Amino acid sequence: MPGIIKKPGTTNTTKDSQEKISLDDGRKLSSGEIELCKKLFGNAIDYRFVRIHKGKLIPGIQSDQVSMTPWGELHMPNENYMDDFSKIDEKRKNYLHHFMHEMAHVWQFQRRSTYSRGTVVLCGSVLSVATGVANLLESIGQALPEAVGEPIENLAGSVDPYTYKDTPPTDFFSYNMESQAEILADYFMSSIMGHQNYVGKHSNRRIRSQFFYENTLQNFFVEIEKFNTKNRDLKKQWNLE
Ligand SMILES: [Zn+2]
Repeated sequence: MPGIIKKPGTTNTTKDSQEKISLDDGRKLSSGEIELCKKLFGNAIDYRFVRIHKGKLIPGIQSDQVSMTPWGELHMPNENYMDDFSKIDEKRKNYLHHFMHEMAHVWQFQRRSTYSRGTVVLCGSVLSVATGVANLLESIGQALPEAVGEPIENLAGSVDPYTYKDTPPTDFFSYNMESQAEILADYFMSSIMGHQNYVGKHSNRRIRSQFFYENTLQNFFVEIEKFNTKNRDLKKQWNLE
């Protein structure tokens, strides 16, 4: 595929889904993708170190719709992957939402010290298990008659780490990693890209009010602004070279 650099012998193919295990070098972000990300993250991400891999990190466990970004690199199943997320048409804007959600995980990883990056990976794993439990409860709830199924579906919503409450606005950094990523992706789509009526593919991830975003994201904006004005030497800070 264009834009993907592969090392010979480092990819495998699974029998069931024909999806490759994404152990290749991946591709860099396109200039258009960096431009889009800068609208939200400014210089707080060192875009040179971001890679997008086409394929699953853990075939068999990672479902076709789930991307994984555990250490600042995106591993996207074929179904979620695009060669350039900045060149998508109106009908596929959910791909852009998904891409920005994963870029939020890159930002979460890069903003930590080397030591606490392990914590980011660990938290991500715990939240993945919670997501699996929520999805299981949801499908059980949907399969049962409404009277029994509805409480189970509600329970699924309450353990789903992607869900965030919009009243009253709370400090952004008090949300879990998945909620933070959802808030940022929703904010990006509604406020930056102007898709006011955009609704994510899960019904419980609806766009919240501008009031909610502006208040909740205040501390996030302060942090991004620091990176933009100080122009810190990120590479040195993160010990990446
Ligand atoms: Zn996520």
